Amino acid sequence: MDLAARSGIALRLSAGEHLVVTNTHGQQVVDTWALSAQEPSRFLSASHTWMHTGRLVVRAGDDLVDNTRRPLLSLSEDTSLGDHDLLIPSCDLPRYRQLGVREYHDNCHDNFYAALAALGVPAPQFVPQPLNLFMRVPIAADGAISIESPRARAGDRVRLTAVEDVVVVLSACPQDLAATNGVGRTPTGVAYDIVGATV
Ligand SMILES: [Zn+2]
Repeated sequence: MDLAARSGIALRLSAGEHLVVTNTHGQQVVDTWALSAQEPSRFLSASHTWMHTGRLVVRAGDDLVDNTRRPLLSLSEDTSLGDHDLLIPSCDLPRYRQLGVREYHDNCHDNFYAALAALGVPAPQFVPQPLNLFMRVPIAADGAISIESPRARAGDRVRLTAVEDVVVVLSACPQDLAATNGVGRTPTGVAYDIVGATV
């Protein structure tokens, strides 16, 4: 299935199912969230995942844990060079205001709420910090961070495996004022597929 540029979608995954996200054109960042289907107050938590893995970055094989330290997803496959950010909040209208935009601008924050509403899932009162697939945020030795043009190539993909029944939200980031989605500053769509549980 295609996820159009600048848009979001919420998907239900049963335990054991896989969600494959493919960077159709390359360099596109995909803000990604997960909530427990049974208890939506449990959400994929970046800071708890840092603690769980002992790293600020994720790698294939890592479990991604929630705010009660239970695994919701695992990053079971990654054909990219491994750039996925767990530090940067989703883009939102205040961010685009800072960048000088006066009118409405599509943003991942609003995509999160719209996607959950479309699926009929009660949304948390705040937007959790996302896992930003394919986003390149190098961490320098002095702790400095910067948002760099992604290295993800067309066809690169990640596979997220549901550890329990979850709702996953994807947002094809509409950032077109910085190099978040490449120096061309042209957000694109991505593709996703739900693959059945492997027995
Ligand atoms: Zn965004």
